[in-house]
Amino acid sequence: MLAPGSTIGILGGGQLGRMMAMSAAQLGYKVHVFAPDDHSVAAEVSAAHTRADWSDSAAMAAFADACDVITYEFENVPVAPLLALDQAKLAPGPLALEVAQDRLSEKTFVSELGGRPAPFAAVDSMADLEAAIAQFGTPAIVKTRRDGYDGKGQWRIASAADISASEVAATPMVFEGFVTFEAEFSVILVRGRDGEVRFWDSTHNTHEHGILAHSVLPAPAIVGEQVEAARALAQRIAEALGYVGVMTCEFFATADGPVFNEMAPRVHNSGHWTIEGAVTSQFENHVRAIAGLPLGDTSTMAAKIVMDNLIGPEAFDIARHLSDPRAHLHLYGKREAREGRKMGHITRVG
Ligand code: AMP
Repeated sequence: MLAPGSTIGILGGGQLGRMMAMSAAQLGYKVHVFAPDDHSVAAEVSAAHTRADWSDSAAMAAFADACDVITYEFENVPVAPLLALDQAKLAPGPLALEVAQDRLSEKTFVSELGGRPAPFAAVDSMADLEAAIAQFGTPAIVKTRRDGYDGKGQWRIASAADISASEVAATPMVFEGFVTFEAEFSVILVRGRDGEVRFWDSTHNTHEHGILAHSVLPAPAIVGEQVEAARALAQRIAEALGYVGVMTCEFFATADGPVFNEMAPRVHNSGHWTIEGAVTSQFENHVRAIAGLPLGDTSTMAAKIVMDNLIGPEAFDIARHLSDPRAHLHLYGKREAREGRKMGHITRVG
């Protein structure tokens, strides 16, 4: 068990790290953030910040020496620099990042474990795209294999004419058949160092412009019917990765059962409701897991819970948000409220 006063290193400097750092502080730990950002909202609530590029191996080595355990709040941390560090300090291990960073390896990995992603194919050329369309049909979505998030790096296509040859040539892509779904949900689990696994309830997630907008409990009946199979797959993924900490898998609930969309080797926006709505939040249980502490109860504490994301300038309309005295307002401390940027969220319990 990580002794009180020990230092937890977090790779990445955004709001997930900020909320994780607040839970770490509650448990008596110090947090050291490594992030290239000039302004890190995680570092703002942490004891230390190494502001350096991911490729700065001297800075990374000094950071690792200063930390007792190291985790991530951002899944696109480059893996190569991590391999030079003491692997025993990394939780989860870098294999989870490696799999999740590339949509093709992620879908292949999950298929091998018996999961069902949308029909997919690697696309490195227009010829590959035309072959995928001939095999799986349209509509479809072409996504960059790496570095996509919040719907960025995606093209919805009805035919090959909807994406240019130069776009296809720019970076490796993956073709995905369009999934007709009734609802989207995520499975968030925590796995301890001893292999114990606990799940939070699955919310109904709705997206606007490719960005999560709302997570709501209870989810529709179809989610309840499919969550068991989705949990079983998520647990197999976590076990295959030897995972320690909180891990998220996103699913489409379809007429033929759950279709795997993607995984995140970290806490997740669709789990923010757990701060006030579950006995133990995703952030606290992530810290407990990586620190080797007993896991907390993940039970939901109310019949109805709603989490609304605050995206762009509307986030700063504080008087309106707090006009409901039951609203738990979270602002992430970001200075610039750009359109499409996640600035905060509100949770209502009960
Ligand atoms: P992603 O970043 O891959 O999670 O995509 C963002 C959102 O786009 C998802 O949450 C879905 O709402 C939608 N989406 C992504 N892939 C598909 C697909 N293959 N079929 C239908 N909708 C999709």
